[in-house]
Amino acid sequence: MQIHILGTSSSRPAHGRSVSGSVINTNKGAIIVDCGEGFQERIFNHNKKLKLQKSNFRIKFGKINTILLTHGHLDHTWGLLPFLKTLSLDGRNLPITVIAPTSHDIINKLTSSKNPFTEITDLEPSNVDLCFQYRQWWSLGGTTDALNFQVNWILIGVDENDEIGKLNAILLDPDNNNVQPVDNLKNYTNEVEIMNVPTLHSVPSCGWWIKEDDKKGKFNSELAEKNNLNKIQIKKLANGEDIENHSSKYYRESGILGPSVLISGDTAGENMGFQNFSKTNYKTSLLIHEATFLEENIDRANQYLHSTAIQAAQNAKLINANNLVITHYSSRIKDTSNLISEASNEFDMVHAASDYDIINLTFDDIEIIS
Ligand SMILES: [Zn+2]
Ligand SMILES: [Zn+2]
Repeated sequence: MQIHILGTSSSRPAHGRSVSGSVINTNKGAIIVDCGEGFQERIFNHNKKLKLQKSNFRIKFGKINTILLTHGHLDHTWGLLPFLKTLSLDGRNLPITVIAPTSHDIINKLTSSKNPFTEITDLEPSNVDLCFQYRQWWSLGGTTDALNFQVNWILIGVDENDEIGKLNAILLDPDNNNVQPVDNLKNYTNEVEIMNVPTLHSVPSCGWWIKEDDKKGKFNSELAEKNNLNKIQIKKLANGEDIENHSSKYYRESGILGPSVLISGDTAGENMGFQNFSKTNYKTSLLIHEATFLEENIDRANQYLHSTAIQAAQNAKLINANNLVITHYSSRIKDTSNLISEASNEFDMVHAASDYDIINLTFDDIEIIS
């Protein structure tokens, strides 16, 4: 798994840093997490550089199958529609899935009406609610009909106190005026395992946990030959079936666990989502957590529901992540070394992301290419 960091600034570009956006290459295709303003220019420039370097990690646009948004603030969403338009101009014909959080109330209202354009203003959503942004994007040409490739528009209901792994999601089809429930996100992500982790921010928000599949160990055919097994017996063992006097597990080398990453999006440091996630058995190789402020600005962090670097580190410890990468710096922060030294008091494996970093991740190892 490789994670390409394409923006580390909060709210607005500052000190050469752009706003949020990441691309994750998995063995089942690429996933975008957030795409703030200028996203398409950043992804194109980054990829052009990787192509010139003949890098194995370059992003293949045809492999991008899912775009995940963490919340509706424009520094995380403004670049989405221009990027979809460009994919359309490039002649894309493969489907793409967009998944974004909103409130449970909005999901429940759309579900009961079965109309993606149902009036929701009585629920008093924020004016950047992703339900509204979807409608604006559709009216500006973000539909399957206008783009000439299928877009699966999914909204999920989130609340800080949600049970981890419990899904309340709908698929919206603006071309046919239709709303359908979604039982399993995997059906829309090319089978990549993803899960929302509710967070606490001024609008409905969630982090995204993404896991690459475990790899099966190699079948030991030499041992099978040595034991004079016939083809039918070997086939059974290779398929994981036990046969008389032979257990299939002795014929397969141990597998490799797939890496997993949790990207926090914007969140207050103390939140129920991370508390609840820490009580589950989900393993996290890498936590990418926002660290908008230094500890001297903890009051601002609390007021605007953002985190300090220390809180990011406390959350890494809480969920038992192997590594922490911090991002989403306030424009007050010129140099990230103070964030690292504060976070390091709480957690050992901290890196402060820079724009265009590539994080090469395995289950138990991390390499950062700056
Ligand atoms: Zn933000
Ligand atoms: Zn935000």
